[in-house]
Amino acid sequence: MNKRTVVIGAGLGGLQCAYALAKNGMEVIVLEQDSHIGGCLQSFRRGTTLFDTGLHYIGGLREGESLHPLFRYFNLLDLPWQQLDEACFDEIVIGENSYAFATGHERFVEALSAAFPNERQGLCDYAQFLKNVGEHIFDSFLPREASGFYGSSLFARSAHEFLEETIHDPLLRKVLSGTSIKMELNRDTLPLYVFAQINNSFIQSAWRLRGGGQQIADHLAENIRSMGGMVRTSAGVSAIEEKDGRTIGVRLQNDEFVEADYVVADIHPHEVLRLMANCPSVRNVYRRRMQSLDDTIGMFTANIRLKPDAMPYENRNIFVHREDADLWNIDTQHVNSVMVSFYSDQPAIDLLTPMRWSDVSQWADKPVGRRGEDYVAYKNEKVEQCLQLVEKRLPCLRDAIDHVYTSSPLTYYRYTRTHDGSSFGIRKDWHSPMTTVLTPRTPIQNVFLTGQNLNLHGILGVSMTSVFTCAEILGMDQMREELKIK
Ligand SMILES: Cc1cc2nc3c(=O)[nH]c(=O)nc-3n(C[C@H](O)[C@H](O)[C@H](O)COP(=O)(O)OP(=O)(O)OC[C@H]3O[C@@H](n4cnc5c(N)ncnc54)[C@H](O)[C@@H]3O)c2cc1C
Repeated sequence: MNKRTVVIGAGLGGLQCAYALAKNGMEVIVLEQDSHIGGCLQSFRRGTTLFDTGLHYIGGLREGESLHPLFRYFNLLDLPWQQLDEACFDEIVIGENSYAFATGHERFVEALSAAFPNERQGLCDYAQFLKNVGEHIFDSFLPREASGFYGSSLFARSAHEFLEETIHDPLLRKVLSGTSIKMELNRDTLPLYVFAQINNSFIQSAWRLRGGGQQIADHLAENIRSMGGMVRTSAGVSAIEEKDGRTIGVRLQNDEFVEADYVVADIHPHEVLRLMANCPSVRNVYRRRMQSLDDTIGMFTANIRLKPDAMPYENRNIFVHREDADLWNIDTQHVNSVMVSFYSDQPAIDLLTPMRWSDVSQWADKPVGRRGEDYVAYKNEKVEQCLQLVEKRLPCLRDAIDHVYTSSPLTYYRYTRTHDGSSFGIRKDWHSPMTTVLTPRTPIQNVFLTGQNLNLHGILGVSMTSVFTCAEILGMDQMREELKIK
């Protein structure tokens, strides 16, 4: 009989692992606690408008670029991807001035050198460095030698120091940091690997998905089912059960037991520890280590339905920053930075700004939808601050608004169970890569971790991590061969 893998969590990582294992002849069962699959990829409808949660754009989708072999393998290339403008896929607004990120490393350097002519050499060095990191992405995740992923010394280098060493002009440093709402810019912790790999993929090419991120999850689930696998919703796992150092299966919240030869957990490590509460192989030293890991910051999102034809669609993202904002020391008391993301197929936009769990924790115990007037007032005030910051660049936005829906870290926790509503999972720290960058292995030999908490977050990072996790079960050589990596 085929070996059975139970995957906990139907986020991108869980679905990709199930897909790869099913493709290799395993029986797979994906168990999702929510009533919908997708985790951060979920799209949700409000009236006639379909909003996204955690997918605004991806990078590196063209042949020869970072994400292409992964999405080819996971059969995701044929979704309705729409490339953002090559001359300016990301616009960074600081005070009165705007700067363009252009597609392709050479064009990227040219576009910014026009605004910073004295920094041409620094920009060339910056772009070349990122390019190199991108070209070696498979060597860092699927190394030919047994030395493994953690050999990647860029996890032990500071992103902020790299920027200071490479670029002299503080304004240009700010511009180059200006799109990084998609990671937690933290001068004390952010590893160079995370900064370089993610930014590089977007410089390669940047893409939006027409019709919403849910399509990725639905497409993976459809393929899993067509290979004989099962994807179940409203099937929260309450325990991983162990016998003699190996898991024998998982217990669901309704007390049903599902047998397993392997378990892959696409959930936050703190949640994994909770599920392993009665597993004797999981010693206190492992528990303490995992519990000591901090989380990255969360996000506040205003999903805005616009009046029809009231505002033109822009085929780029716009990142607006207050002139005095310190981008590497995020202050969530004030709105200092906002990402504006457009929908290409409907009159709607999203505004995103960082928010901490502690900003909203006073309402955490209250039921969804009944958190009180003060919570509503707090969120309305955030929307107002976001609008004030972006309306210089988008003067017609305020009048174009039909309706605003909001979500905070409390919302993200409610739907994905990610600890503290963190947007990008466990915080990686360049001072201690050996403890903050996690391996898929756990103290139970046939239980593995996957997803954004392990090493790199985002669609690229989670896709790489899925392959990395499956390599533990199927072998590194097998995964390299399947991905057609030389
Ligand atoms: C606001 C926001 C914007 C983002 N924008 C982008 C972007 O534009 N581009 C990009 O590349 N990345 C973006 N990201 C990041 C990206 O969405 C995530 O890194 C990625 O989707 C995480 O996938 P995952 O599988 O690791 O986890 P998740 O999506 O969190 O999936 C985990 C799943 O496990 C389930 N689960 C939890 N506990 C249990 C249990 N006990 N039993 C069963 N199921 C359980 C959850 O319900 C969830 O479905 C964004 C993230 C956020 C929050």
